[in-house]
Amino acid sequence: MELKYVQTTCPYCGTGCTFNLVVKDGKVCGVQPYHRSPVNEGKVCPKGTYAWEFVNREDRLTTPLIKKDGKFVEATWDEAYDLIAQKLKSYKPDEMAVLSSARTSNEDNYALMKFARGVLKTRHIDHCARLCHASTVAGLAASFGSGAMTNSILDIAESKCLFVLGSNTFEQHPLIGRKIVQAKMNGAKIIYADPRYTATAKQADLYMQFRSGSDVAILNGMMQYIIKNGWEDKEFVEKRTKDYDKLKEVVMKPEYDFENVSKISGIPVEQLQQASEWFAKAEASAILYSMGITQHTTGVDNVKSVANIQMLTGNLGKAGAGVNALRGQNNVQGACDMGALPVVFTGYQKVIDPAAHKKFADAWGFPDGICEPKNGYEVTVMMDVLTDKPGELKAMYIMGENPMLSDPDLTHVEHALKALEFLVVQDIFLTETAQLADVVLPATCYAEKDGTQTSTERRVQMWRTAQAPPGQAKLDWKIIAELSAKMGYPEQFSWKTSEDVFNEIAEVTPSYHGMNYARLNKPEALHWPCPTTEHPGTPILHIGKFSHPDGLGVFHAIEWKPPAEVPDEEYPFILTTGRCIWHWHTGSMTRRSKHLDEEVPTGWIEINPEDAKALDIVDGEIVKATSRRGTINVPAKVTKDIMKGVMFMPFHFAECAANVLTNNALDPIAKIPEFKACSVKVEKI
Ligand code: SF4
Repeated sequence: MELKYVQTTCPYCGTGCTFNLVVKDGKVCGVQPYHRSPVNEGKVCPKGTYAWEFVNREDRLTTPLIKKDGKFVEATWDEAYDLIAQKLKSYKPDEMAVLSSARTSNEDNYALMKFARGVLKTRHIDHCARLCHASTVAGLAASFGSGAMTNSILDIAESKCLFVLGSNTFEQHPLIGRKIVQAKMNGAKIIYADPRYTATAKQADLYMQFRSGSDVAILNGMMQYIIKNGWEDKEFVEKRTKDYDKLKEVVMKPEYDFENVSKISGIPVEQLQQASEWFAKAEASAILYSMGITQHTTGVDNVKSVANIQMLTGNLGKAGAGVNALRGQNNVQGACDMGALPVVFTGYQKVIDPAAHKKFADAWGFPDGICEPKNGYEVTVMMDVLTDKPGELKAMYIMGENPMLSDPDLTHVEHALKALEFLVVQDIFLTETAQLADVVLPATCYAEKDGTQTSTERRVQMWRTAQAPPGQAKLDWKIIAELSAKMGYPEQFSWKTSEDVFNEIAEVTPSYHGMNYARLNKPEALHWPCPTTEHPGTPILHIGKFSHPDGLGVFHAIEWKPPAEVPDEEYPFILTTGRCIWHWHTGSMTRRSKHLDEEVPTGWIEINPEDAKALDIVDGEIVKATSRRGTINVPAKVTKDIMKGVMFMPFHFAECAANVLTNNALDPIAKIPEFKACSVKVEKI
């Protein structure tokens, strides 16, 4: 028996925990601690513990599949490539769209971005950051000039006050939750605001339960109270920011005194006062937020408000402070960094900037040029175009994403994907989306590849090959390179190894310029920006100056707006959606993990006991939940953890898919959908 341990990075959340995969006779069969990781120090959460179980499932995709007469038949790689090449060559560039993936490596994302813009020459590329943190990228870029988590995970433990807003950290980023506990043990005050009393609420010194969609009102109210009490950091505001007068004009309005904020949010005035005082008076206060802030039609406004309060209190560019946007997927930060977005190349170099466009055209050397220097469609807009403008988009290439379960208003998504003439899906399982494809390509998971991913704290970490891919499955970037060669561009994709791909990334990306595999092959890895090979990386952003050309942070005057849908007589409850500790997003991996599936085999809807009583519903009863977009049957969980008038559903489960109900109303800037608030009714069956 041959036994080995391969150190790698967890494929689930953006925390980026390191562990060892146990490999017996060439097959992954367990997870063991790796103690030298500074972030997780040998610990992992339940998802990490069982992150090996899906790897060798018998339903892994092992051969290319081509749909004939409505049924998949096995094909050779050459047959699949030839069909895809012939079909994609028949379309005009902007008739094609590409979805990249926050689950795959930086190398895979870079390869697909280059394929989209260089081979297909389309402007339309996006990925699931659109559904989680597109508002962070847009909001923080407007406020600070750079749209990423400002401080590091280790730094959270240094904070003197942590305000956790719209993030159930203990379930979604459990090993970051551990840093909250460490901060608390060091004397920090923990303030938690969320519509649900979650595992995170249990750790809080102050828990504020609020109505989903009232974030801007709460933050404006807190800023008014801080200014009235003279607790703002006057020196920071004067020396490091601009447009404070515009902010003050709005937040000092009577609408944002705590009496009114309390009516909007449901939070008692005394709690708001206490939170403001703790937050403003602490030596270093950090905000941790996640999708409770971002997944709204006001997502960018919410993020700008978070930035506003941190600039007002001088909590940026120093240890224990910052705007800590906790990214969801393991590599959603990296997929954004790699330019898998409709407006930027790698490192946020703008597609519409003639200099950046020329730089990539020259570096790549496609003899017939690259995509036009114009922004493309976001994934949410692609779905609307498919249903509303028939024939404008005709083909789509999806790598490792599952919009048939992850996107809002699934009936609409199904109509959209079925309107395509040609759909290619590259994945490790036959997901709900892959089932709609014309061609399915078998790809590799994290345990079968060398590569990098970039965690929520901008730390670039290694994946290492632990076992061979199953059957004929191939590395994602390799599939793209071979297809590109078939389409006439062998030289542009002549990489031999993942390291070759990374070296090209570092060459064209200033923030990754000083990185290479030798430097990343260390437990502490590197945080970007890392501009030179001598640079130590940057765990804390904005020390001394912000990333705008003038070095100043910008205040934005933001008015509170209600969600796009508010409860009415027909749909009297607010539905908010999220995740649980046992499962990950659309469940394609965790629901195929025996232990995780046994813990939580299906979904549920949380209902407050008073609402349940009024509806004559008991705990465990299967109920009918309906929104303006659809109806599902789902088990009821009657619990005081959810406030009256609000309901909660996890979105992992296809058999009771929360996203049948959710609203695809979009933030006007980030085009992120309002997953966190739609109106529903619930009835007995
Ligand atoms: Fe994996 Fe996140 Fe759990 Fe760490 S906290 S083991 S990265 S799922």
